[in-house]
Order: sequence, then C-alpha cells, then structure tokens
Amino acid sequence: MNRKRQARRRQTPQWLVIFIVFIVFAVLKISGGDTFESPGGSPDQVNNIPAATAEYDWAVYFIDVGQADSILIKAKDQAMLIDAGNNDDGELVTGFIKDLGIDTLEYIVATHPHEDHIGGMDTVINTFEIKKIIMPKVEHSTKTYEDMLEAVLNNGLKITSPVPGTRFDIGEGEFTILAPNRSRYDDINDYSVVIKLQYKNTAFLFTGDAGIESETEMLDKGYDLKADLLKVGHHGSRYSTSEEFLNAVQPETAVISVAKDNMYGHPSPETIDRLRQAGVRVYRTDEAGTIAAVSDGEKIEIHSRKGD
Ligand SMILES: [Zn+2]
Repeated sequence: MNRKRQARRRQTPQWLVIFIVFIVFAVLKISGGDTFESPGGSPDQVNNIPAATAEYDWAVYFIDVGQADSILIKAKDQAMLIDAGNNDDGELVTGFIKDLGIDTLEYIVATHPHEDHIGGMDTVINTFEIKKIIMPKVEHSTKTYEDMLEAVLNNGLKITSPVPGTRFDIGEGEFTILAPNRSRYDDINDYSVVIKLQYKNTAFLFTGDAGIESETEMLDKGYDLKADLLKVGHHGSRYSTSEEFLNAVQPETAVISVAKDNMYGHPSPETIDRLRQAGVRVYRTDEAGTIAAVSDGEKIEIHSRKGD
C-alpha cells in the first residue's frame, strides 16, 4: 500500500514540473522583453545615443542622419543645434534632443538652405523653445525652405544674419562666426555659416558645406582657424578641405557626416588622403553611427556606438 502510494506520489508531479518549467520560461521571456524596451522611445533611437551620453557635461554630438548634417552641442545647462538633417529626420533629431532632457535650444544654426541641412528644422522649431536662429541671407525656392520659414514665422522668431567676427556665449564657452564673408556666391554651399566653438582650451570648427572658395576667404581674412576637431566640409567632398585650409586648422580629429554608399561618392578619396597626410584621426558617421566628442576643457574624447 505504502509503496504504491509513494510511487503514485512520485508520478503525479511530472506534468506539474513541466507546467512550472513552462510558466517560468514564459515569465522569463516577458521580463527579458521588458529589459530591451526603453522608456524614452524605440530601441533604434536609444541605439543612436552613445552609451551614458546623458552624463556628459559638455559634448558635441554628430547625430547619424545619413547623407546630411545635424550637430547638437550640449554645453553645461545650455544647448545649441547646427543643422537638422533631411526632411525625414525631424523626429529622429527631436527625439535625440529630448532623450538628453533638453527642452530649450539657445541657438539653432541653419548653415545653408539645402534640404540635407534644414530638412528637419521645421519639426525642431515647432518642438523646442528657440532663443536665437542664425541663418544666411539666401533664398531657396523649395518646399523644405518654405516649411522652415513658416515655422519661424508661426513661432514668432526673428532670423539673425551671420556677421563674421560676431561672438556668442554658450554654456561657459563661446562661438564665433567666421563665414560667409560675402553676400553673393555662385554655389549655395559657400553661403554656409562657419562657426568656431571654444570651450576653455578645446576648439571645434563647423564648416557646413563651405567649399574651397569660402575656405580661401577665411584664410585671406587671417582668422584664427586652429581647432582640435574639424567637422569636415561638405560631407568630405573634394571641393572642400583644401591643403591650405587644413594647414591652418591643424585638427587632431575630423568628423565626416555621410551615408554609406551615397550617390555623390562622399567622402572623396582625395579628401581622405589629405586628412591622412596631415595625420588627422578621421571618424565617419557611416561607420561609427552617432559620434560624441566630449570635452573636459583640456582634451576631447571621442565616443561612438560602434567603437570606443
Ligand atoms: Zn550637405
């Protein structure tokens, strides 16, 4: 009797064990799924932010917007945006800025009115409080340009024209406008607002899509172009980043904002060669994704999703 009962007792839990194992796996799977979900948005958006960036006090983010430019500068408790990617990048750029806990942009700079620089600007202007907007005086008859102007008007903003030599404060640092130096150019790219940003002993140079013509003017004016990090002009096109310009900037690091297999063949092998010859470390958004250049006021450290 006893033996029989024991045998029966031993047999009974088998289905129960299988059932419990099943439940345990089901629970693990659900909680596993939860850990991959971010509170701030889709997993893709989170991947666009290099690890722990929200903790950086002073950083320049080259947001991966494919074949376009978008650069966010987080300077202590202030922020500034240079360009906003293509039309489709509005949500990505605003999402990135929001994820860093930013709701006010002290400055936005629309370097020039090409779609790959101002595409997402209307969304940015409609999303955040904007203190000052800097853009060159050049008209462009595209829907993208009109959308941006409409957002500027609807939000009661005034456009500040870039005057070379003008300085602005930003989070214990400052930036100076270095271009455009003329009021008329044949190539819209040459209207690009060029900015040198200084934080203590570290300097950054942002050139938009400025070509060799604008670079030559900046050299002729005798501006102090020296910078630790250069945002390479015009996605690394061969018509920017002349040897003379590179000699004056003497960057340690260069960042190229570019899409993989783009139809323009950017960056050009000649530009890459000029940068290599000058001993510059080159980072590209098509290889590294979003790149963060973190400054402590003495040196700049590069962080990216793929890489260091
Ligand atoms: Zn461009």
